[in-house]
Amino acid sequence: MSVAEAVRKKYEPVIGLEVHLQLGTQSKIFCSCSTRFGDPPNSNTCPVCLGLPGALPVLNRESVAMALKTALALNCAVNTSSRFARKNYFYPDLPKGYQISQFEEPLAEHGWIEIESSENGSETGKRIGITRLHIEEDAGKSLHEGFTDSDRRSYIDLNRSGVPLVEIVSEPELRSSQEAYDYLTALKTILEYLEVSSCNMEEGTLRCDANVSVRPVSASEFGTKTEVKNLNSFRFLQKALDYEIERQIEMVESGKTIVQETRLWDSREQRTYGMRSKEFAHDYRYFPEPDLLPLTISQAWKEEIRSQMPELPQAKKKRFIEQYGLSGYDAGLLVSSRAQADYYEDVVRACSLPKPAANWVLTELTYLLKQANKEIEITDAPVAAANLGELVSLIEKGTVSGKMGKDILAEMFETGKSAREIIAARGLEQISDSGKLAEVARQVISDNPKQTEQYRKGKTATLGWFVGQVMKATRGQAHPQKVQEVLKEELAKSK
Ligand code: ADP
Ligand code: ZN
Ligand code: MG
Repeated sequence: MSVAEAVRKKYEPVIGLEVHLQLGTQSKIFCSCSTRFGDPPNSNTCPVCLGLPGALPVLNRESVAMALKTALALNCAVNTSSRFARKNYFYPDLPKGYQISQFEEPLAEHGWIEIESSENGSETGKRIGITRLHIEEDAGKSLHEGFTDSDRRSYIDLNRSGVPLVEIVSEPELRSSQEAYDYLTALKTILEYLEVSSCNMEEGTLRCDANVSVRPVSASEFGTKTEVKNLNSFRFLQKALDYEIERQIEMVESGKTIVQETRLWDSREQRTYGMRSKEFAHDYRYFPEPDLLPLTISQAWKEEIRSQMPELPQAKKKRFIEQYGLSGYDAGLLVSSRAQADYYEDVVRACSLPKPAANWVLTELTYLLKQANKEIEITDAPVAAANLGELVSLIEKGTVSGKMGKDILAEMFETGKSAREIIAARGLEQISDSGKLAEVARQVISDNPKQTEQYRKGKTATLGWFVGQVMKATRGQAHPQKVQEVLKEELAKSK
């Protein structure tokens, strides 16, 4: 399947994302069971999360605090009163036969975040609306693989049953798979800054369903959408959308009707396929949860949470540009993780050289981290920020050259030693003492009468060759500019 470029240009994709986020609370949303990951199956359960008759849910305050923090960070209007409802459906991993979720009265609405679309190479900000943010409980997990009798049986693990989630629904304002990718990136970065979740798509603590339709560029109405599920990485989101956009354009072009349905992304076959169409769509028979009171959020609580809000990525980026004179590109890279931004600021505190510090963090240190382990975080870097700051200072002062600085950093990374220790132990200090350099220069001159003769006859280009000899004699430790000066003097004297 491949739609020609010209045909594709006649259509505009319309995309809206539904993101589920597992909140990182200690205990579940309606009982005190632990949320710890990896415990023996069904060990973190009780009558409430097992759905036993008569067990009553009690709302966990911490999960509401995290949801509230998220809503405020996403610029949402928080409803003073919201309500839980029962969403009824049958599935083996849902023992109650319904999920407690917010439906008609969600916690928060009308938010937005700004994305920086890297489309067409130009960085432009675009605001994407967030329709709503609501709280709900997670279901258990069905295990269809990994057991000796998996060909005959499925197993259920209810440790996840009742883990708190928030669902964040975007407006259909994304216009390409790239924008969808950029939106999810911006959203994930904010969520990571808030420390409300581990935000891991592979492990399912961040899940994303994509709604997509296409319409002729001139149309004002949206086309029929499909919803794509099973997207457990950013790359799959983008690939699945590209596939789905092509498929829909092809359908419309050949006069077929798009059915509103849920489709699954198959990463092995690199395609989506229909799972259930609207005819079989659920009627969830929502009704207000009779065992829970409406959720009331006081102005005071909202203000308290707002006052504890960390500086968010965009504000930090802006501050880095203004305070440290960084480019938008470098500032953007630095704030892409809160830990990296904090590390960078610690380096700056140690050396007061913001631009070189940014270069060393973003190039050399990042390179060493990636080489050591693709998954490694900057918080695990074996080089303390203060030590990198010291190295940056020593380079700026000319104690060691930048080229040597790279070797020193590599050794710091390997051994955890400070720059000063390594420089002292290896005798790497750059030689800028004119007396010492003049000595070496005189030796080189007297050892090479032929080249000295040529220089004297006016072939001044030989100077570079002399510099090279002095560098070699000092094992690269001589200060190159000083060497030039000293050589010129000594060569003039030897006339
Ligand atoms: P549903 O009732 O099918 O769940 P919603 O109106 O709740 O649909 O929207 C779910 C998601 O789908 C939202 O993220 C929304 O932005 C997106 N969406 C709605 N209509 C369209 C459309 N025509 N094309 C693409 N996305 C859409
Ligand atoms: Zn429980
Ligand atoms: Mg919906």
